[in-house]
Amino acid sequence: MFNSLSDRLTGTFKNLRGKGRLTESDINSTIRDIRLALIDADVATPVVREFTGRVRQRALGAEVSGALNPGQQVVKIVNDELIQILGGETRRLNMAKTGPTVIMLAGLQGSGKTTFAGKLARLLRDQGHFPVLVAADLQRPNAVRQLEVVADRAGVPCFAPERGNEGGHDAVTETGEGTRSFGDPVWVAQAGVGQAKVRQYDVVIVDTAGRLAVDEALMDQARNIRDAIQPDEVLFVIDAMIGQAAIETALAFSKGVDFTGVVLSKLDGDARGGAALSVASVTGKPIMYSSIGEQVKDIEVFHPDRMASRILDMGDVLTLIEQAEKAFDKRQAAEMQRKFMAEEDFTFDDFLQQMSAVRKMGNLKSILGMMPGMANMRDQLASLDEKEFDRVEAMVRSMTPFERTHPKQINGSRRARIAGGSGVTVSEVNQLLERFGQAQKMMRQLRRGGGMPGMPGMPG
Ligand code: GDP
Repeated sequence: MFNSLSDRLTGTFKNLRGKGRLTESDINSTIRDIRLALIDADVATPVVREFTGRVRQRALGAEVSGALNPGQQVVKIVNDELIQILGGETRRLNMAKTGPTVIMLAGLQGSGKTTFAGKLARLLRDQGHFPVLVAADLQRPNAVRQLEVVADRAGVPCFAPERGNEGGHDAVTETGEGTRSFGDPVWVAQAGVGQAKVRQYDVVIVDTAGRLAVDEALMDQARNIRDAIQPDEVLFVIDAMIGQAAIETALAFSKGVDFTGVVLSKLDGDARGGAALSVASVTGKPIMYSSIGEQVKDIEVFHPDRMASRILDMGDVLTLIEQAEKAFDKRQAAEMQRKFMAEEDFTFDDFLQQMSAVRKMGNLKSILGMMPGMANMRDQLASLDEKEFDRVEAMVRSMTPFERTHPKQINGSRRARIAGGSGVTVSEVNQLLERFGQAQKMMRQLRRGGGMPGMPGMPG
C-alpha cells in the first residue's frame, strides 16, 4: 500500500535536497510532481487540488524562504498537509457513558466487515473490554456462520439467530415480546443489543448486510437498524483496493447511514492508496482503523500522523514499538523504548529480539514497512520470505557478543568467519551490515529531528 506514491514523493524531495534557496520555479515543479503522484495513486481530484493548493501557498510563504533548509521545510509542509487530509488528530472510539457501547458496521458486501468485526472484538477484548458480536447480516448465505467462526477466533461470544433460520423470512420463533421473525435483521440487531445489556457485556459489535453495489434497499435496512439500536458509532468499512469507486461508495453511505468513522480494509494489498487518502477528506469523517490482513490480529488503530510518516518513508516507530510491546515481554519493550530515548544505538542483540518478536506477530512486511528508510529496500521487501529471515538470523547468531554490540568493528576476517558459520556468502554479510548501519543512522536522525525526522539522505 502506498508504495509507489511513497517512492514518487520521496523521489520528488530528493531534487530539493541541499538547495540553499528555493525559487518559485523549484516550488512549482515540486508541486507539479506531487500532483501527478497523487493522481497516479488514484486520489480524488478535488482532494488533489485542495492539497496541492495548500502546499503551494505555504511553500511560497515565509516559513520556507526564511528556513535554513528549505527542502526539508517543504517535506514538513507536505507531512502536515497529509496529516490533515488523513483526518488530523487520531480519533478514538466513542464509548457509551452508561450501558454497553454499541458499534454498528456498514459497508458493501466483501468489504471486510465480518472479518473486521472479529478483529475489533479481539482488540477491545485485549484492552480489557467484554465485547460481543451480533450477526445481523441475514442477506448473505452463511454470513451468520462466518461471524460465529470469526467470534470464535477472536475469543468472544456471538449472538445469532437460531441456526437454520437465518435469512428465512418466515422462520418464526416465540419470544417474550411476541412472535417475531428471525429473518428480520432489525429485530436481530435489537435483540442482540438487549441481550448484551442483560448479560452485562460492555461493547456490542453489530455486523450488518452489504450488497455488491449501493442500492436503496440496502441503505434503508442499514438506516432502520441504526435507528433501532441507536449506536454510539457507525463504522463504514471500505475495501481500499476498489480505487476511485471508493469515493462514490463512501459518499453514498455517508448520505445513507451517516456513519461516524471509517475503517480501511485490505490495506495490506498493493492498491495505490487513493481511497485511503480521499475518503476522510471527501466525507469529513475520520478514518479510525485499518485492516491489514485476513488474520484476527491484523488490525491497527489509524493515526493520521503515523500514516503520513509512513507515506513519506520516515517510518512509524511509534506503531512499531506498540506492536513490539504486544509480542515482546514488557521488560524488553521498555528497554527498546529506553534505548531509543537515550540515544543508544540498537545492537544486533536488539535486532535478534525484534526479529523473533516480529516473527511471532507474523505479517513481516507490514512490520518492516514501518522502519524508517525502508522505501529504498522495497524490492527486497517484496521478495521477502521466511527463509531469508532464517539466513539473517543465522548470520547474527554467528556473530560474537562483541560483534553484536560493535557492528562497526566487524572487519573482513570477521565477516568471512560469520559467512562461513552461517552458510552464506561474504557479500550477504556485507549487505546485512550495510542495512543495519543505515537503520541505525535513521534512528539517530529520527531522534534528533524530534517531531520532524530528517528525510533519508537529507540530514538537517
Ligand atoms: P464482508 O462481506 O464485508 O463481511 O467481508 P468479509 O469480512 O467476508 O471479507 C471478504 C473477503 O476479504 C474475505 O475473503 C476476507 O478474508 C478478506 N479480507 C477481509 N479483510 C481483509 C484484509 O484486511 N486484508 C486482506 N488481504 N483480506 C481481507
